[in-house]
Amino acid sequence: MPEYRFTCPKCDACATVDGGVRERLLVVGCPVCAGGVDTPAFVEVSPHGTDRP
Ligand SMILES: [Zn+2]
Repeated sequence: MPEYRFTCPKCDACATVDGGVRERLLVVGCPVCAGGVDTPAFVEVSPHGTDRP
């Protein structure tokens, strides 16, 4: 399952989340400030341990 780097556009909180959590945050908002979260707040990240450049 892909992971995503979440950065809150309102409070700059950061977290690495999986796809399920991403969907949840898009609905419920930031867990820190409860601000609205949109898709650009998430950037897909490669899993650790790969040899991709
Ligand atoms: Zn926030």
